[in-house]
Amino acid sequence: MPITPTTKIWMDGELVDWDKATVHVLTHSLHYGMGVFEGIRAYATANGPAVFRLRDHTRRLFRGARILQMDMPYSQDEIFDAVKLTVRENGLDSCYIRPLAYLGYGEMGLNPIDCEVRVAIAVWPWGAYLGDEAISHGIRLKVSSWARHDPRAVPTAAKGTGMYVNSCLAKVEAMRAGYDEALMCTTSGLISEGTGENIFVVRDGRLYTPPASSVGALEGITADSVATIARDLGHAVTEREMRRTDLYMAEEAFLTGTAAEIVPIGSVDDRLVGTGEPGPITREIQEMYFATVRGNVDRYKDWLDYVT
Ligand code: PMP
Repeated sequence: MPITPTTKIWMDGELVDWDKATVHVLTHSLHYGMGVFEGIRAYATANGPAVFRLRDHTRRLFRGARILQMDMPYSQDEIFDAVKLTVRENGLDSCYIRPLAYLGYGEMGLNPIDCEVRVAIAVWPWGAYLGDEAISHGIRLKVSSWARHDPRAVPTAAKGTGMYVNSCLAKVEAMRAGYDEALMCTTSGLISEGTGENIFVVRDGRLYTPPASSVGALEGITADSVATIARDLGHAVTEREMRRTDLYMAEEAFLTGTAAEIVPIGSVDDRLVGTGEPGPITREIQEMYFATVRGNVDRYKDWLDYVT
C-alpha cells in the first residue's frame, strides 16, 4: 500500500521535512531488527482530530522497549506530546501514526548495548487497512502454514520490528493464494492471531478470544476496546484457547486492530462463517466502535486525546 507523504516527521526531538527523514544504511536496526513500533490512529471528530487510546499505545511502546532492553531517550509524556504535535503540524483531520524506536548508526554486531536509541514519529492518511469492502462485507481468511512465534523464542509481548518477518511471510502466502488475510496458529495448533490483528469468535452467542500471552499474540488495544464495548453491550467475553475447528463452527468471527479496525471474517479456509455476511454481534460492535473513535460516545470519551 503506497504511503501518501505528508510534510513533517518528528525525528529525535525535531520536526524534519518528510524527504529529509532518512537514516544511514548501517543503522543497526535495519540489519538485526531490534526496534519497537506502534500503530495508532487519529480520527476526525466534532472537536477536531483526536488520537485514540494514545496513552495505552505509548505505554505499550515503552513496555516493548523495556523488554528489548532499549533505553528510551524520552519520557512517555514527551512521546505523547510529540505524537499530538506531529498530527497537528501536518494539518490532518484523521491519520495513521507510526512511532518507531530503533538502534541507530554507530555500532555493529549483535551486542546492541552501546547503540544509540533513536525515535521517529510519522503520520500519514491511511484508509481502511483491509479495504472498505472488508469492513462492510468481510474477508476471506486462510490459516497459515507459518506458525506464530513461540513466546519462548522471541518476546511476542513487544511489538518488535524484526518479529514482523513472521507476519509478512504469512500475509504474502495468504494473498498469493487468493485470500485477504492469514491467521497464524501456535506450533501446537492453537489459534493465535492475524498478521496484524487479534481475533474474536462468536459461538452460541458468546464471544471468545485467545489469551494473548499463552498463544504468542500481541495484547491488542483494539481487542481491549472491543472486549469493553462488548461487555457494556451485555455480551459475555471469555479468553479461551481455540483450534481452527472452533472457527469452522463459529456463528461469527472478526479481526481487530488499529490499522484494520474491526473486520468481519466471511470465510475461513473456504468455509463460510455463519451466512458469510457479517453477523449481528459483529455489526453491533463495529457500530459502537466507529461511533466511539469519532467521539460520539460519552462513556468512552477518556479514550480520546484531542490534538488541538
Ligand atoms: N497483533 C499484531 C501482530 C499486530 O501487529 C497488531 C497491530 N498492532 C495487533 C495484533 C492489534 O493490536 P492493536 O489493536 O493494539 O492495534
